[in-house]
Order: sequence, then structure tokens, then C-alpha cells
Amino acid sequence: MTRRLTVAVVYPDLLGTYGDGGNGTILAKRAAWRGIDVDLVHAPSAEPLPRADLYCIGGGEDGPQVRAARCLVDDGTLPAAVADGAAVLAVCAGYQLVGRRFPDAGGQAVEGLGLLDAVTVKGTGRRAVGEVVADPGPGSPRTATGELLPTLTGFENHGGRTTVGAGSAVLARVRSGIGNGDGPGGGPATEGAWSGRVLGTYLHGPVLARNPALADLLLGWATGGDVSLDPLDDGEEQALRAERLAAAPRR
Ligand code: GLN
Repeated sequence: MTRRLTVAVVYPDLLGTYGDGGNGTILAKRAAWRGIDVDLVHAPSAEPLPRADLYCIGGGEDGPQVRAARCLVDDGTLPAAVADGAAVLAVCAGYQLVGRRFPDAGGQAVEGLGLLDAVTVKGTGRRAVGEVVADPGPGSPRTATGELLPTLTGFENHGGRTTVGAGSAVLARVRSGIGNGDGPGGGPATEGAWSGRVLGTYLHGPVLARNPALADLLLGWATGGDVSLDPLDDGEEQALRAERLAAAPRR
């Protein structure tokens, strides 16, 4: 039974532009409230990445994103930890760089970690900026009790458009916003991707403050389902969700 968890926020010096480091705090708090001891580590890019049960990778600008990808490929710890069962939450630039390829500032393809079967290219239209609402559906991850996550809410700010390949599944269908962008042949827009215990999303917020069920899904993955995650009083989080969902423009 895992009563101790290490949560690592990856390279906050490079991928800390959008407040996604808050996801690490949320995971640590929600675990601690269930009696799980947590080491929350902020792992700088100048040092070897530590082993952790759960990694949070945030968003960033194009240049630091390329640098982060190169450091993570050279370091090698993250793919090894994932192969050993570690969970990953990767947001925006983090999402793109755990995929197979993503564009640098000039649009040239940069090699990602290949932890998700997702390829990002530079979008041709305007930058995606604003509220996103996305609904989990068939193919989305299930909670420990077999349920779909509630509707996802977040804020996006990205130029890339992402295509999810057959080796991963999309996280949700976009109701409002851009997310990954339109599906093949102009099909409905999708949001994020996941496979195994690796989950990528365009949602900032931080996303786990707005979507506590997603935080608990990741904690369940990181503990291997060994620890029962008792319900918490999420009244404040639910109020935030209701406010942000109401603020999203209709499609
Ligand atoms: N640089 C990437 C893009 O614009 C990611 C941006 C972000 O992390 N918010 O697509």
C-alpha cells in the first residue's frame, strides 16, 4: 500500500509561465488530506530529474519548451519512470513535448519524448486563447469506480494544433474552445490525449484546481489504486467550476 508519494513539478524554471506548478500543490494537498505523505519536489532543469510517482509538466514559451524537451530526452529519467509505472500530467507545452513532435518558434519539428502518440504542428489560424469546456466520452479515462470524469474546464493559450494517433486516445470532446483543434477532415474538435498513466491536456487554470476529479484520477494512477481516496469537501472547487463553466462562450 503506497502511503508515501513523490510528486515532481518538472523544470519550473522553463515551464512555469502559466501557473501550472499549482497542479503539484493541489495533488500534494489532496493526497495529504487522505493521510498520504507527500514529497513535493520542484525539479530545476539544471539538475538530474529525480524519480517520482507523479510528474507535473507545465506550459511555457516556444524557446524554453524546446530546451525542456532536449533536457528531458538527454536526462532519460522521465521515460524510464513512466515505464516503471509513474504517472504524468502534462499541460500545453508539456503536453506537446511528451508527444512525438512539436514545432519550435519557426515551425521546425522538434523531437518529443514519444510518451503519447500525438504530433503537434504550428496552427495556421489565430492563436487559441480563452476558456475551454470539454466533455469526456467513450475512450476517455475512467475513475477507479469506472465512471467518466465530469466536464472539464480550463483556460488555453497556444499556437500549436495536435493530432492524436492510434497509440493514444483523446481525453475529451471540445464543447467550447479549440483544444487539439479540429479532427481529421474537419471533424469535431478534441481535447488532450492519454495512454497508460500519461495524460496531456491544453488546459491551464491550473487545471486540477478546476477539475478535482482529474486530480484524484492522477492520484489513483500514482498510488496504483492501492489507497482508497475518500471523498473530500469540494464545495469551493465546485463553486469555481460553476463560475468558469458559466463564463465559457457558447460554440
Ligand atoms: N509554445 C506552445 C504553443 O504556443 C505552448 C504554449 C503553452 O504552453 N501555453 O503552442
